[in-house]
Amino acid sequence: MRRPASRTTARGGWPWPACVTRNICQVADIRTCDRCGAAFTPRREHARFCSARCRVAWNRANSYDPAAEASALRWSVTAMSETIARLLRLGECDRPRALGLIGEAVWLVTIVDATLVRHHPESYDRVLAGEQPAQRDGVNGTLAGLRFVRNRIGVDTDIAALVQPRGEHGGRVASWLWQPASAPRLDSLSARGREWEMARYQEYQAWLAGRTMTETFGRAASFLQLAADGATLGSDEEQLASGTALR
Ligand SMILES: [Zn+2]
Repeated sequence: MRRPASRTTARGGWPWPACVTRNICQVADIRTCDRCGAAFTPRREHARFCSARCRVAWNRANSYDPAAEASALRWSVTAMSETIARLLRLGECDRPRALGLIGEAVWLVTIVDATLVRHHPESYDRVLAGEQPAQRDGVNGTLAGLRFVRNRIGVDTDIAALVQPRGEHGGRVASWLWQPASAPRLDSLSARGREWEMARYQEYQAWLAGRTMTETFGRAASFLQLAADGATLGSDEEQLASGTALR
């Protein structure tokens, strides 16, 4: 595996570009707001609007139902937490079942993450801003790494290639490790898509590879739970009115 040319070191003295510890990072990308058409630089990959005002206005115009969405979000968070708890409790058992549960947990984490980023960025950013910087990098890196896993298992890789059981009979799934991954194939992607995919890959290598299921799923789930709790407390309109909306 070729690593990008040096900058400072992250873990274990590996040279990584500065981008590795942030997913709000230096991916050069300009896009057009879905509502007002203004050009803006997205802070996250799936951002569609230049501002919270445009997002709320678009939601209103498109019959977006906040109550239905909040209930769907609560359901997804419960499913995510229960799946992760079940996964981490698994003892010696058949490997296919454990791999199936890991795939399901990755899927649910990325669904909750994407829903919060798209519909509740205020709560998402508020909870992130409340973390210590090292913890914030860990949350951003872990979630980007899990997005990398989701994309890869959706295309050409069996999840078995990304995890490493421990112990003679596989041991407890909680202590299984993520394996270092090979670099992604970028040929079919646009220049913008390549940058995002490389950023996700580097976060995977930095924040998942060599770490346990407990550490990665625990970190992702506790952050998403907090952000979802904040999201269902007040509507976007109330947050806009009180001036707490960021975008
Ligand atoms: Zn706009």
